[in-house]
Amino acid sequence: MEDCIFCKIVSGEIPAKKLYEDDKAIAFEDLNPKAPVHILIIPKKHLATSLEAKEEDKGLMGHLFLTANKLAQEKGIDRSGFRLVVNCNEDAGQSVFHLHFHLMGGRFMAWPPG
Ligand code: 5GP
Ligand code: ZN
Repeated sequence: MEDCIFCKIVSGEIPAKKLYEDDKAIAFEDLNPKAPVHILIIPKKHLATSLEAKEEDKGLMGHLFLTANKLAQEKGIDRSGFRLVVNCNEDAGQSVFHLHFHLMGGRFMAWPPG
């Protein structure tokens, strides 16, 4: 989609530190990490928010979850623990309107989030 930062990362127009890529998804390091491990996992398909995911996207959503598990294991934060976050719309502080999972770990995280 035009003018979407994450679509431009998918196309290679904007560089990113890619950690994983397949035909449906990519994962890359967050530009402004909030934890020692802070990875963004995104579908290649442009969905502005998690609310745009439809019945046909069920498999894709599961794929993003399993990709997060794989990366958590690769980064060695599976046993210590990690958080998977999807911010949706204004109150959650969503700033990039291309669906993304934040995979965060490597430090203790308080609950509830601020
Ligand atoms: P949101 O606030 O929408 O849930 O998260 C957006 C995330 O994208 C933020 O953590 C922000 O640091 C990250 N981000 C924004 N622009 C870029 C970029 O151009 N490259 C990378 N790697 N991360 C970005
Ligand atoms: Zn996009």
